[in-house]
Amino acid sequence: MKSHLRVDGWIEMSARPKVFGQLLAEVINKGLCVGCGGCEAVCPVNSISLTEGSPRLTGICIACGICYSCCPRTSFDEAELERLIFGRGRSENEALLGIYKGYYAGRSRDQGVLRRSQDGGVVSSLLIQFLRGGGDCAVVAGVEEGGVWAPRPMVALRDEEVLKGAGTKYTPSPTLVGVDSAVSEYRRKRVAVVGTPCQIRALRKIEKGTYTDRRIAESVAIKIGLFCMETFDYKKLMEFLEKEGVNPKEVTKFAIRRGKFAAIRDGDTLFEIGLSRVKELVRPCCEVCEDFTAEFSDISVGNVGSPDGWSTVIVRTDLGEQLLRDAEKAGLLELKPLEEGESGLGAVLKLSMSKKKRRG
Ligand SMILES: Cc1cc2nc3c(=O)[nH]c(=O)nc-3n(C[C@H](O)[C@H](O)[C@H](O)COP(=O)(O)OP(=O)(O)OC[C@H]3O[C@@H](n4cnc5c(N)ncnc54)[C@H](O)[C@@H]3O)c2cc1C
Ligand code: SF4
Ligand code: SF4
Ligand code: SF4
Repeated sequence: MKSHLRVDGWIEMSARPKVFGQLLAEVINKGLCVGCGGCEAVCPVNSISLTEGSPRLTGICIACGICYSCCPRTSFDEAELERLIFGRGRSENEALLGIYKGYYAGRSRDQGVLRRSQDGGVVSSLLIQFLRGGGDCAVVAGVEEGGVWAPRPMVALRDEEVLKGAGTKYTPSPTLVGVDSAVSEYRRKRVAVVGTPCQIRALRKIEKGTYTDRRIAESVAIKIGLFCMETFDYKKLMEFLEKEGVNPKEVTKFAIRRGKFAAIRDGDTLFEIGLSRVKELVRPCCEVCEDFTAEFSDISVGNVGSPDGWSTVIVRTDLGEQLLRDAEKAGLLELKPLEEGESGLGAVLKLSMSKKKRRG
């Protein structure tokens, strides 16, 4: 059995712990599960397993309540969690972005990193700095061995492994299963995690929860969030590409920019289509999500708001700021002010508002 402790965290919505049965009824069976892998990662008796992205009970449930409590899709007091993370509530001008200390456009100074990254290579540069600065490993989304664009969590111990995970996979990866692996199998104590906003929420619930997994809570040293409007269903995406005559094996990069979804091979666009025409590929669980910029992360990174080849960076905590400054000082990346107008910060605010409005 994994060693879990109950500690005084934030106040749970219910006095008695809710257990896997309730997780099944309130989240999984309602199509709200995002497939983050949090429940599998935290179950102290290893009784939950994700099958085709959906959690199943595979052993006995000792009714500890940890899976329910750590799931990003069970109800919780968001304002209270925010106060526990940042030490304050958000101000009026943080309503759309979440709490932040600053924002920038950033880009790696290394051509090798830029070539393999999605945008400005900021995420990979931060992870490389984390490893060089004493971090033990980084949990990233790699691609399944032999699988075509099927993401799976990977524990990266070296720069080269960080770069193997670079680039966006627009289908879900059960990131928290990778976090459990980093902590339980690799026995790592300082772990960096990259994740979508829902995955960052799961990590924060683990960090601050009453019914929780202290091993994971104490080992995750930094949480790097990605902007995220939606993810596609893997099977539907593969079928769609096939129908459109695109061989996913030939694609070296997928990208969403300026309202279009594109499949790219070595810099050449193979296929491009308006986002409105791929709406049926979006997972239903994303329809109710209101967090575009990973509001609970230490540092968030996306592409909207920055010129091509750059990333937009929102720094939220001292930890995030320190890592960014260390990477800049080490010459791994360069930063410049984020343009404040319509194509800069304005574009981030616009997308964030549309996500909150559409799904709120
Ligand atoms: C599903 C998804 C949707 C996104 N939607 C938007 C959007 O609407 N608007 C926007 O501005 N930006 C969006 N982004 C972020 C954007 O695509 C880039 O990830 C971001 O700009 C960072 O670029 P980079 O060059 O710094 O990252 P890189 O240095 O290339 O590193 C990217 C990191 O993201 C990790 N990653 C890739 N796919 C996943 C995944 N499925 N789950 C968890 N981690 C993953 C990789 O392992 C890698 O560590 C999205 C990202 C994802 C994963
Ligand atoms: S985490 Fe606890 S409540 Fe959930 S399935 Fe495992 S034993 Fe049951
Ligand atoms: S913790 Fe994640 S994988 Fe588990 S039920 Fe909740 S959303 Fe789904
Ligand atoms: S839209 Fe929301 S729920 Fe869907 S993958 Fe992105 S952060 Fe998670």
